[in-house]
Amino acid sequence: MQNTAAVITVTVAGSLFILSGPSGVGKNEVYKRTSERLGSIYRSVSATTRAPRENEIADIDYRFISEDEYDSMVARGEMLEYAGVCGNHYGTPQQPVQEKLHAGLDVVLEIDVQGMYLVRAKYPDAVTIFLAPPNMSELERRLRGRDTETEEKIQLRLGIARDEIKHIPEYDYLIINDDLDVAVEQLCTIIAATRCRPTRLDSEQLLRGLLDG
Ligand code: 5GP
Repeated sequence: MQNTAAVITVTVAGSLFILSGPSGVGKNEVYKRTSERLGSIYRSVSATTRAPRENEIADIDYRFISEDEYDSMVARGEMLEYAGVCGNHYGTPQQPVQEKLHAGLDVVLEIDVQGMYLVRAKYPDAVTIFLAPPNMSELERRLRGRDTETEEKIQLRLGIARDEIKHIPEYDYLIINDDLDVAVEQLCTIIAATRCRPTRLDSEQLLRGLLDG
């Protein structure tokens, strides 16, 4: 028998995902592959006072700004959250995040643990995910392989990683980035499951469509 049921039209709000994990764990790569598979995701471009790395593209990887610009953005209330990490300042510009969520896109913030707590206080429904390395020696190997950091910075980032890992129990999900394909599969699954939450949908439209159709 042919299925003649009409598909109902419901307004969807995007969901906010917070992806944390130590520098060098592979957040960029896992996110990039996930977004290629799922689509309809916006990655927030953080503003930072850190100098660009050789392979980084301005306004795609980060918005690279001066300390003065950073101070002005904070003073004007333009940051959703901001924090100092490893001697530099980082912040999430608020407006693009709000616009994309209203437009029904899912938004991913790649931010540290301090940022997670600040954003979760404002968006309690945010889905929080921690991407961890299989162990500290593997993280150290990846940081060294990047060949962008001084020995001092590597030691500093490893120290920060040890502190961040202690906050894993605060997160909704933990993904261990041992096998990249598995990590991508797991992040896709988390996002796909969140997309089934009825709270994303306009409940009046939903019930009218389902009950009256
Ligand atoms: P990296 O310098 O290696 O790109 O990033 C260092 C750390 O800063 C990472 O843990 C990264 O998640 C975090 N980070 C990047 N952007 C932001 C941001 O906008 N806010 C916060 N709180 N942390 C950020």
